[in-house]
Amino acid sequence: MLARELTQELTQETAAAWDLATAAIHAGTGPDPVTGAILPPIHQSTTFVQEAVGRHKGFTYSRTANPTVAALERRLAALEGAEHCSCLATGLAATTALALALLGAGERALISDVAYGGTVRLFRQILAGFGVEAEFVDTADLEALRAALAAGRPPRLLFVETPANPTLKLTDIAAAARLGKEAGAVVVVDNTLLTPALQRPLALGADVVLHSTTKFIEGHNATVGGALLTDDPALHERFDFLRNAIGAIQSPFPAWLTLQGVKTLPLRMARHSESALRVAEALERHPRVTRILYPGLPSFPQHELARRQQRASGGLLAFEVEGGADAAVRVMNGVRLWALAENLGAVESLVTHPATMTHAAVPREQRERTGITDGLIRLSVGLENVDDLLADLGRALEG
Ligand SMILES: *Cc1c(COP(=O)(O)O)cnc(C)c1O
Repeated sequence: MLARELTQELTQETAAAWDLATAAIHAGTGPDPVTGAILPPIHQSTTFVQEAVGRHKGFTYSRTANPTVAALERRLAALEGAEHCSCLATGLAATTALALALLGAGERALISDVAYGGTVRLFRQILAGFGVEAEFVDTADLEALRAALAAGRPPRLLFVETPANPTLKLTDIAAAARLGKEAGAVVVVDNTLLTPALQRPLALGADVVLHSTTKFIEGHNATVGGALLTDDPALHERFDFLRNAIGAIQSPFPAWLTLQGVKTLPLRMARHSESALRVAEALERHPRVTRILYPGLPSFPQHELARRQQRASGGLLAFEVEGGADAAVRVMNGVRLWALAENLGAVESLVTHPATMTHAAVPREQRERTGITDGLIRLSVGLENVDDLLADLGRALEG
């Protein structure tokens, strides 16, 4: 065995016993055995020279696998408590590989009715064209979920997003996973909004965890990336086969940046959650705010579920102001420290208008039915001083 492989294997073995804060920094990598470099090299190489026909070191071509990407996969698997991880070019590349791995023409997929706009667009506008029957269900309502699972042919896939982007609606993962598995579906949880630092879907019964690593996992607005994690070797093999066949693997440099970003994940998620709660409390008291959505607030309808299922509520929240969409647009145009941008989960605080930005591809009817109004403002609370963030938001709300 190569010295490097030995180091990685030892690291991986110990990783199981490590706390998240330690695993986030050390799992899956060790000092470079050749140079002693404390950071792993970026293996920016298309191909890998083979010693003889059929004899190589496990890497042949970077669309199939790459050592830097593999290091990130070991790190993320340790954090999520999963046996296997596949990293892909983006979160949506992960959703595409997942869907192609599990679904064919005539097969049913049930998806949370509030989900990232790109997820809705993929199922509605692309997969439906190949005969996949995608149905959007209120997975927060277990009776509605039970009825949908029993209506017609058993679904192959139950895709849950919780908390759901952008209204933060929660699904009871343990209960939904039980119902989904009883019906024979593969149960997938999009854990992008909370990350393994705050929520562990596999431990609650999910078969697969999906991440957009673009968000909190990388955390610095520097990359796009996705991941699929599972304990099931057959599913993992299928995901890697699909990733290679459709050409959707992560590239080495963003994988390396993600290895750097994820080191501070537990620390960042704690601060994101603390600051978001402060912002949510301030907005709840503000006379111009008519609706505030943050699971960490005792007034949130599913606050008890949040307390049971999540370690904290993360950095995302949404609110409405009196005066509807026009007033909301004035607030979003009025902030200076908060950047008006798509994305969430980075150190920089962002404000987003879901109806015209992240969720523009969701049909108006589905948006209105699920509370994604034209006046809804989404905030991703970053790591700036929270008093500075509140002062800027306060000015925009006065204006
Ligand atoms: C952003 C996002 C995605 C898609 O990820 P990309 O990296 O942008 O492709 C999927 N799910 C959720 C919850 C997201 O916020």
